[in-house]
Amino acid sequence: MKIGIVGAGIAGRLLAWQMVKKGYQVTLFDKNAFNSEAACSFAAAGILSPLAELEMAEPTIFELGERSIQLYPELIKELDQPVFYRQIGSLVTAHSSDKIELNHFHRMLKHKLADCDDYVQNISVADKEPELAHMGDGLWLTNEGQLDTIGLLNALQQVLLKKDVEWKEQVEVQAIEPGQIKTNAETYSFDWVFDCRGVGSKNELPLRGVRGELLWLQARDVKIDHLTRLMHPRYRIYIVPRPNDIYLLGATEIESEDYSSVSVRSSLELLSAAYSLHKSFGEARIIKQVVNCRPALPDNLPTIELEDGVGRINGLYRHGILLAPAVVKQMMIKFDQAISSQKEGDNAVNS
Ligand SMILES: Cc1cc2nc3c(=O)[nH]c(=O)nc-3n(C[C@H](O)[C@H](O)[C@H](O)COP(=O)(O)OP(=O)(O)OC[C@H]3O[C@@H](n4cnc5c(N)ncnc54)[C@H](O)[C@@H]3O)c2cc1C
Repeated sequence: MKIGIVGAGIAGRLLAWQMVKKGYQVTLFDKNAFNSEAACSFAAAGILSPLAELEMAEPTIFELGERSIQLYPELIKELDQPVFYRQIGSLVTAHSSDKIELNHFHRMLKHKLADCDDYVQNISVADKEPELAHMGDGLWLTNEGQLDTIGLLNALQQVLLKKDVEWKEQVEVQAIEPGQIKTNAETYSFDWVFDCRGVGSKNELPLRGVRGELLWLQARDVKIDHLTRLMHPRYRIYIVPRPNDIYLLGATEIESEDYSSVSVRSSLELLSAAYSLHKSFGEARIIKQVVNCRPALPDNLPTIELEDGVGRINGLYRHGILLAPAVVKQMMIKFDQAISSQKEGDNAVNS
């Protein structure tokens, strides 16, 4: 079967991989160049935190996230190159004047998840992160993980090319219709087509882009090992430790589809909060600044549609890396069902 997929972000690449594993012939279209990091997926910090996300999300995000966390280790094993991934829990803390924020966060989780305390422990921060002992108490989210998003996207690209996926780079798709993908120059025919264009699907879905800014720091004098969130009434941040003293510091969330560079205000807020957490961030070097817009639907929930020969995965919003394996799995279940009913229909006609 010939499958056409538009959009080579996390959703498109993972879907292509599942289709390849089924033995289908896949063509992947993207308007960006092959080695570009312009897709929103490349901006992501790679946090896999179903529980922390639940504070501001629906329970379905938690459920999909938990499923993805179970799927990721197996998925990463299938790839030809190693991808930095770990599930060692995460820390949430606040300055003593802001402990009310931490308590509110815990209350919200308990309110939304009956067995929340199976996943959360009250701890002394010093037990997990000695250099943050001055923060006093914190919460320990036992199940949370992280991965190197760029590493994952590159590893997926490699494996897809090795399996003979036709990757049409720098091809801007104008329309996706049952069995057809249209560019200004050409119309391509497939058995099934899938739209994974993120914010690029605005003509078909009521999408908006939600701006996020993130800074990559190199801080040789900071030793934080776990993903750490700082609760604050105005400037919440997370710090994502990576190998080689790299820390990803993020992320802003601004209701504006604006791709311009990181603003001074956002830099001040992010960096001041990081400095307030650990003074040695003062000597860190800013090695990369990242801006992108998260694809969000009005309810901030993902959509996984398969109708009239066209599939759509979108609305991954602020948790696309977390949700993608479970969302793609749901799409594959729908797809298998659609193929079975198609076959039954064909058999009925033939008999
Ligand atoms: C700063 C920041 C930090 C984040 N951190 C995290 C995190 O830690 N954990 C997490 O789970 N999520 C995180 N996210 C969210 C995550 O990045 C998104 O949910 C996810 O990337 C969405 O993936 P996608 O594949 O749907 O879209 P995209 O990655 O945007 O991919 C869409 C692709 O479609 C292509 N395209 C669009 N239009 C066309 C067209 N007409 N023709 C051809 N190609 C087209 C684009 O070029 C692009 O490659 C973060 C986001 C931001 C901005």
